[in-house]
Amino acid sequence: SLGREALAPQWDPPQVDTTRPHPARIYDYLLGGKDNFPADRAAAQVALRALPELRAMARANRAFLGRAVRFLARAGIDQFLDLGSGVPGPGHTAQVVRAVAPGARVVLVDYDPIVVAHSMALVDGGAGTGASASADGGSGVGRLAVVQADVRDPQELLDRVRVREVLDFRRPVAVLMVALLHFVAEDEDAPGIVARFVREVSAGSAVVISHATDGGQPERSQAARRGWDQAASRLVARSAGQIEGLFAGVEPVAPGVVPLPLWRPDGPVTDDVGMIWLNGGVGFKREA
Ligand code: SAM
Repeated sequence: SLGREALAPQWDPPQVDTTRPHPARIYDYLLGGKDNFPADRAAAQVALRALPELRAMARANRAFLGRAVRFLARAGIDQFLDLGSGVPGPGHTAQVVRAVAPGARVVLVDYDPIVVAHSMALVDGGAGTGASASADGGSGVGRLAVVQADVRDPQELLDRVRVREVLDFRRPVAVLMVALLHFVAEDEDAPGIVARFVREVSAGSAVVISHATDGGQPERSQAARRGWDQAASRLVARSAGQIEGLFAGVEPVAPGVVPLPLWRPDGPVTDDVGMIWLNGGVGFKREA
């Protein structure tokens, strides 16, 4: 099986600075998780004071992730590249995929060493998650890999993913960028980053994106985003039009790029839609 030793060469030793807030751990705290530190909780409190709805937003985002992954698995996608995968708490990608498509392949990518360390537990043991990496005919290639990389350097990220040989890029892959791109600054070319991944994947592949808006309340949004000012990455809100623009190279499926609670809800929408300041959708790459 794919042990920690086998992965060590591609896995940077964790350089963990727990005194600085990190987006993954702030989000984990908002979701009620335990993988966070005092600096993360203090940052979250700054944000929550301005915007108590943030917890509901974090839950709505995780719920959207689950609906999008289930939708894609049912559409026949069996390879998932999860960029900015986050702490693997309840409803994370590997868990949702395993529940609907047990044979599917998943690569989790994050720049946060703590996320990588927690995600490695899924590879090593996977107890209770059903997400253990089973060896593939003795080749040493499993169905789940964890990669530490920064999405702002797509080429290096893709090189690190490809060397793991979990995903076959000749076949459709779902590229997830869920609550990720609002950590890419204005001058770091979020549309170009998405375009780079769309270029890399074959026709029939999909892109899943969710992204923060300012909810039409720029001042409250700015006050809340101060929570991320000292963090490893700051949080930028983009307009509905800018978020739609991230889907330039793909064709969004109905209902399009919308506030998350409105994207293919499982039942009656119980969220107050105006309270969830996140838009997103799922797009497919068509034949050239
Ligand atoms: N995608 C998960 C979800 O939606 O439930 C987690 C979202 S969490 C809000 C954002 C994640 O993106 C964090 O785990 C953070 O470490 C990661 N992240 C932020 N900037 C990143 C970057 N430049 N490269 C890779 N990961 C990044």
